[in-house]
Amino acid sequence: MEEQEIRKSIIDNCLRLKSIGFVTGTWGNISVRRNDNNMIITLSRIDYDIMKPEDLVIVTLDGKETIGTNNPSSEREVHRLIYNARVDIHAIIHCHSQYVTAAAAIGAPIPAIIEEMCQLIGGEIPVTTRFIPSSHHSELGEETANALGNMNAVLIRNHGPVCCGRDLNETLLTCQVAEKAAMIYIHTNHNNSAKEIPAEAVRDGRDYYLNKYGKENLK
Ligand SMILES: [Zn+2]
Repeated sequence: MEEQEIRKSIIDNCLRLKSIGFVTGTWGNISVRRNDNNMIITLSRIDYDIMKPEDLVIVTLDGKETIGTNNPSSEREVHRLIYNARVDIHAIIHCHSQYVTAAAAIGAPIPAIIEEMCQLIGGEIPVTTRFIPSSHHSELGEETANALGNMNAVLIRNHGPVCCGRDLNETLLTCQVAEKAAMIYIHTNHNNSAKEIPAEAVRDGRDYYLNKYGKENLK
């Protein structure tokens, strides 16, 4: 995708997140991995309504350089360390959607309870091991990238979700699946009535999504 297209799609997705209530105020952030392996990321404390494609900044994945005149998101270390750990990830969204944030306050992983979780997330949504304030940028980044492991969504304890994917559309969908899973988990968790999907079926679901979904010959 061309640079300008990437920048515009980031802003479009910011506005989408706002319109569906997944972010409030200036919280939340989006990044995309560029072809040169650096990331384009949203800005710190700028309202999405006035943020323009050309305002976004580039941060190198070694963390040494920021290209652009504005300040990148304060959570850039979360994005940067995930891209460094996972070459398969090309877009990251951190939002504050309500049910996932509620689950992050419970501080337990969300088990694989709906099939979309197997396909998009790879199974359960893990959670960071302890509360880390957002101002502790490096520590928060390291902890979040570690907790994410091989999954495509993670809960930052007492904060909110970070979702990942191969492109921005898939990542937004992952945010929506995470929110749906958290809603169902919270509504059923009080009496443990949600049944977890067996581990083998979780693996099969992920394999189906990556290798077969949309490619079947249904004749
Ligand atoms: Zn946040």
